[in-house]
Amino acid sequence: MHKARKRFGQNFLNDHHVIDRIVKSINPTVGQHLIEIGPGRGAITEPLLQALDGHLDVIELDRDLIPILKAQFFRYEGLEIHEADALKFDFASLAQDDRPLRLVGNLPYNISTPLMFRLLEFSELISDMHFMLQKEVVERLCAAPGDSAYGRLGIMMQYRCEARYLFTVPPGSFSPAPKVDSAIVKLTPRKELPYKAENFQLFAQVVKAAFAQRRKTLRNNLKGLIDEQALTNIDINPSVRAETLDIESFVRIANAMHESAQ
Ligand code: SAH
Repeated sequence: MHKARKRFGQNFLNDHHVIDRIVKSINPTVGQHLIEIGPGRGAITEPLLQALDGHLDVIELDRDLIPILKAQFFRYEGLEIHEADALKFDFASLAQDDRPLRLVGNLPYNISTPLMFRLLEFSELISDMHFMLQKEVVERLCAAPGDSAYGRLGIMMQYRCEARYLFTVPPGSFSPAPKVDSAIVKLTPRKELPYKAENFQLFAQVVKAAFAQRRKTLRNNLKGLIDEQALTNIDINPSVRAETLDIESFVRIANAMHESAQ
């Protein structure tokens, strides 16, 4: 019997109602290209395979789980098991035809933030993503200006994706039970960006700096990047905190910096 490993963030789903609800939210249909990150012992893998006529890619890091998955699903010839680290995985290698990728997973919580940033690099290949994460992380991903959870993670995600909180999952739905609540988020990459940063790196830098010290004003956090007058010129009040600004405002700041550097 395989023993759950903490370092791989293993909390296996064992609640059939929750598994059903997740699969219904994903709503997989034959012909779609789904990729599951961290299949574990196959709790979501099984119903996905049934809905997808046996065609699925899964990415699993724990090599001890690979033979278990292979034995459990040997009948499904269309199942591709990739023994790999999702943080380093080249998702473009799976986008060999015109079908967009649909990503799903009950993710290891210890890698969730770096994984979100990594997946954003592939957002053009992806049609949607359904992930189970710590509830607090889902709240950050979906937060709007003024919410206490609003910050860098939500802004960087919502710049490229629409983020929707689907539902909460209590610790008792897993074995072993985690210490905190979890939630399912749906992330849908935008086909067109409503506000486009001329220089994405600069935008990322502005957002990071603006939240470096949450309680400080923009004037202070952006010192050395853009001065007070330049902020006023684009209708941004230097005395406010970053948590009050919407994404369009951050894009405006980055674009003003970009233009003045030309
Ligand atoms: N989907 C299963 C397991 C969830 S636990 C279920 O719901 O029951 C998280 C899974 O992600 C584990 O199987 C763990 O081994 C795997 N995992 C952890 N780190 C990973 C990584 N970097 N890349 C891919 N899989 C990883």
